[in-house]
Parts: sequence; structure tokens; C-alpha cells
Amino acid sequence: MNTTTQRYNDVMARIDRAAAKSGRAATDITLVAVSKTFAAEDIEPVLELGHRVFGENRVQESQGKWPALKQAHADTSLHLIGPLQTNKAREAVALFDAIETLDREKLARTLAKEVQSAGNSPELFIQVNTGNEPQKAGMLPDEADAFLKLCLGTYDLAVTGVMCIPPFDEDPVPHFTLLADIAKRNGLAKLSMGMSGDFETAIELGATHVRVGSAIFGSRTQVGG
Ligand SMILES: *Cc1c(COP(=O)(O)O)cnc(C)c1O
Repeated sequence: MNTTTQRYNDVMARIDRAAAKSGRAATDITLVAVSKTFAAEDIEPVLELGHRVFGENRVQESQGKWPALKQAHADTSLHLIGPLQTNKAREAVALFDAIETLDREKLARTLAKEVQSAGNSPELFIQVNTGNEPQKAGMLPDEADAFLKLCLGTYDLAVTGVMCIPPFDEDPVPHFTLLADIAKRNGLAKLSMGMSGDFETAIELGATHVRVGSAIFGSRTQVGG
């Protein structure tokens, strides 16, 4: 039987191997354990192992379970990896340590305002729609550089990286490569890419953050969760 602990240890070992294979230090890669749809009692075993970086895709769901978990484990870092509506920006700034889905000017403007009134800022990643998919969130690759300048300059936001979610049915390599190029030419240190099915590939292409859910917590029952 596969337990969360076994699966977590297996993912960590696979990260080590992928890092070694590409001559990188495993400590340069942050595992964002994606706990969306899972309850606090499912997350606790991973906290018990000493893991402290988690990802969630919904603000409201996170508000239900994370304040108590964070209180019990003060050094926890929580990443928002799902779309953020501007009317949830205040709550997101209050709860999340990183927001990986900054993808439009209206959100940049709102976050700038909320960060200023909160007096603290989550770390920010610009989401890039590397597949130019019409229905998907994210800045188009051609517009990413200009948007980054706007975020850093006009809005004075703490953008340190980029993230992508490649099209579901495509080879992720060109998408990871494109994202790495955007980060490099803009001098951004952080690269959030790779999920359960492709995190080793992402590490070989430079990922500093891999977002892994089902390979740790098991399969999600909620479709699209
Ligand atoms: C759910 C989700 C993940 C994790 O997906 P798995 O395939 O379960 O590892 C990673 N990134 C984002 C943006 C997600 O929504």
C-alpha cells in the first residue's frame, strides 16, 4: 500500500536524481507540495515529515484549512498556483507567501495597492501562457517582458520568477525551454514548472520550483481540482 509518506519520500528521491543528472544541487529545487482538494488531516503527515512549502489553487479553500496549519507550523510557505480574482487579492496577500499567477495589469494594480496597505508582500511569479492557448490564464510569451517591466517599474511589485502550465496534451519540453529563456533574458532567478507527470524534465531544464500534487497526495477525486 502506498502512503503519503512513501510517495513523498519517493518524489524527494526523484528530485535528487534529476538534480544530480543535470549537475544541479537538489537544495536549489523547491518542492511545492500541491495540497488542493486535500483536507488538513491529509496534509499533516507531510508537515510532520518537516516539509514546509505547499501550493493551493483556490483562495477560499485555503482560508478554510491553512490559517490553523500555519499557526501550528509558523515557518510554512504557502503558494497560490491558481487564478486570482482581483476581489480576492486582499485575502490572498494576507494568507499566501507567494502568488505564482500574476497574469494581467488589473491584477498587478490591485496587488500593488493591497501590498502597500498590508505592509508585506508575497513573492510574485508571472504566469506565462507558453502555449498561447486562448482559454488559458497567463501573459502571452511575446508580452511577458513588457509586463514584467510594468510590474517592477510602474507597480513596484516583488516579481522574482515566472511559472507556466504547459498544454495538457503536448510535450512540455518546448514550453519549459521557452519559460527558462524568458526568465534568463529578464534576469529572474525563479522558474516554477513541472508537475507530477513531468517534474524531472522540468528540473533538467532549470526549474527552481516544481509543483507536485497527486504524486504525493494520491489522485484527486474532484475533476479540475
Ligand atoms: C494541480 C496543480 C498542480 C499539481 O498537479 P499534479 O499533476 O497533481 O502534480 C501543479 N500546478 C498547478 C497550477 C495545479 O493547478
